[in-house]
Amino acid sequence: ESVVNRIAAGEVIQRPVSAIKELVENSLDASSTSINVVVKDGGLKLIQVSDDGHGIRYEDLPILCERHTTSKLSTFEDLHSIKSMGFRGEALASMTYVSHVTVTTITPAQLHGYRASYRDGVMEHQPKPCAAVKGTQIMIENLFYNMTARKKTLQNSGDDYPKIVDLLSRFAIHHINVSFSCRKHGAPRADVHSVASSSKIDAIRSVYGVSVAQNLIAIEASDDDLSSSVFEMHGLISDSNYIARKITMVLFINDRLVECGALKRAVEIVYSATLPKASKPFIYMSIVLPSEHVDVNVHPTKREVSLLNQEVIIEKIQAVVESKLRNSND
Ligand code: ADP
Ligand code: MG
Repeated sequence: ESVVNRIAAGEVIQRPVSAIKELVENSLDASSTSINVVVKDGGLKLIQVSDDGHGIRYEDLPILCERHTTSKLSTFEDLHSIKSMGFRGEALASMTYVSHVTVTTITPAQLHGYRASYRDGVMEHQPKPCAAVKGTQIMIENLFYNMTARKKTLQNSGDDYPKIVDLLSRFAIHHINVSFSCRKHGAPRADVHSVASSSKIDAIRSVYGVSVAQNLIAIEASDDDLSSSVFEMHGLISDSNYIARKITMVLFINDRLVECGALKRAVEIVYSATLPKASKPFIYMSIVLPSEHVDVNVHPTKREVSLLNQEVIIEKIQAVVESKLRNSND
């Protein structure tokens, strides 16, 4: 049974950056305003995510890392988000099958915190009282210690740290009311350090730098005249002064960081057709639409999504992008 659990867990948590994505999303779900990530050895030795969110109640700690334990399944609407987000209550459980997980947490109602550690879905001993300020800290040690081949492959393919920095940068520009930091263990300074900002542009400036922030155009699209599709998009796209060798597309759908290959290609095509002399674009987009219109079509952890009425939505976005770029170039 434990081998089966481990293999399943390795599917959910494919590499250090996927563990961090799950942990940061949990911190965001807990209404945190500050999220700090520390990483050692690209996340294979240590991942530590600390937040100032609402914490985990003492009585919830024993089952926290059991499969399908979730506190987020209360309303009918959530049934759709299960579908759209692929799985529920599997992330922490999965981590305990492929690493050693320690949780330190305090809720506002408590005078002190508790610390509990987990292995193979089970809490190892009664939670120990400890000092804690606010929120939750989750520590993942020795990720894939029991998956030798996976660990070797990851070690040979280079450190996940750049991917982790990229991930935190993306979260930071979408959740502008939250401050994020990401650093290597023992490093004096953080590689992502965003303080809560008042605008997207400010957030992008602090994370991606002035050269990105000063060359952006606002884009907006919505569609309420289709009986079966209602969507709203707002975002930013680089103008012809922006220079980059690679496309950056930061896409949030219903506040979840996802990928949509078809949309990315469509925007890239209209960008290079409209600004033939420009380099590759920087694109940030936030799309909101009914959650039952979002489909995870590959694997839940890959976050590749497709949308109901995708063609219509893409055409609408392409038209907006084209007209905005044309106006800016005149
Ligand atoms: P899910 O997020 O799908 O519910 P997870 O395995 O990621 O499943 O987390 C299980 C549960 O642990 C969550 O539903 C939540 O109640 C609790 N939890 C995890 N991380 C945090 C956190 N940082 N702050 C508060 N609660 C948390
Ligand atoms: Mg989660």
